[in-house]
Amino acid sequence: TRSTQAWQAADAAHFLHPFTDFKALGAKGARIIERADNIWLWDSEGQQILDAMSGLWCVNVGYGQTALIDAATEQLRQLPFYNAFFQTATPPAIALAEALAAIAPPGFQHVFFAGSGSEGNDTVVRMVRRYWDLQGQPQRQHIISRWNGYHGSTMAGASLGGMSYMHAQGGLPIPGISHIQQPYWWDHGRAQGLSREDFGLVAARWLEDEIQRLGPENVAAFIGEPVQGAGGVIVPPASYWPEIQRIADRHGILVVADEVICGFGRTGNWWGSQTQGFRPDLMTFAKGVTSGYIPLGGVMVGERVATALIEQGGEFEHGYTYSGHPVACAVGLANLKLIQELKLVEHVREDVGPYLAEQFARLKDHPLVGDAETCGLMGALLLVKDRVRGTAFAPEQGVGMVCRGHCFGNGLIMRAVGDRMIIAPPLVITRAQIEELVHRIRRALDLTLADLHG
Ligand code: PLP
Repeated sequence: TRSTQAWQAADAAHFLHPFTDFKALGAKGARIIERADNIWLWDSEGQQILDAMSGLWCVNVGYGQTALIDAATEQLRQLPFYNAFFQTATPPAIALAEALAAIAPPGFQHVFFAGSGSEGNDTVVRMVRRYWDLQGQPQRQHIISRWNGYHGSTMAGASLGGMSYMHAQGGLPIPGISHIQQPYWWDHGRAQGLSREDFGLVAARWLEDEIQRLGPENVAAFIGEPVQGAGGVIVPPASYWPEIQRIADRHGILVVADEVICGFGRTGNWWGSQTQGFRPDLMTFAKGVTSGYIPLGGVMVGERVATALIEQGGEFEHGYTYSGHPVACAVGLANLKLIQELKLVEHVREDVGPYLAEQFARLKDHPLVGDAETCGLMGALLLVKDRVRGTAFAPEQGVGMVCRGHCFGNGLIMRAVGDRMIIAPPLVITRAQIEELVHRIRRALDLTLADLHG
């Protein structure tokens, strides 16, 4: 093995990291992560770090689960690859499709596999447009999504996403996609004096306004994350999604839940749409389906779309080399089994989810914390300048990034989205580990406060 400096030099010389300022990274040097176990990582300097982000919201069963490792190894020996094109299939892909249908909400019996969440959302765009073609309404092409949503980094994924800094590079969005404002009460409802629940209804009606602007006969689908993740863990008011559902139903528009983060127990149910109280027609998944041990994604296809594709569709001209990759599917299968054996969905819903909510609520006594929100094992703390008035820090102060630096320095990975400090720890986390996590967060908050006053 090499020294940290040697790794960093080779890294800067050859590796263009995703979402990274290459020059800045070259100057600073990457942190090299070498191994992991349970909720812990170790870097090349030997520092032990609590991974409160589950990698990138994906390592739901925690690191080092031998059931997943063995499933991959056995499948690699048995059959490392075969495709699902041209009327062939492999046992792991069939078995995972069956297992996913078994845990999906009623009405979902079919799966289309992809290699990632971004690819899954590209499939969604193709599939909903195909659906409306088959309904004899080819003008229904338009898809509505939300500002600050995240749906991936491919052309379609980044277009569906509402990160304007992503649109600014590469001429996005692609045609036929537009965005409505996100249901973020703190920014868009609080100043108007609306309660969270009243704001939820107001925010849902922004969908109605956009549908009327476009003409309902032109709108194919609405897509959203049940709880926005990368946008800063924006937990919508409980009134929001049911009202979205009513509006979409009234116009016959398809509803797509991007479950890439929320799926597989993260919110205390198998699917975030169950927690948020709506019934999507399609659900994108990735990440937690294999707990990130190997790439896999796809789309759960509900009855309405599946029936049209199967009965009327003929050949769907779409698919990926790795759609239904046998090794990825074998790991997915072992992962679902482990989630069931360890009762992780119940663990989140009944035990650690409520416990995290309680612990986060207590952090509101800290002078920097203006708001604290959780949904299952997703959590956000909003750092503010003045808790009483709810005044924000100036963005150029970069307070979130300062706090993130103190987290890193104290053996904790927490993400900063603006001044929202967010977490999504592995679902296997225990109450004692949550206490350790909150202890480290408090220390980082104290150091951030000291910086501000120093
Ligand atoms: N959708 C959501 C909600 C996500 O959070 C992500 C990734 O963070 C994606 C899609 C894209 O998934 P991938 O990075 O696997 O392409």
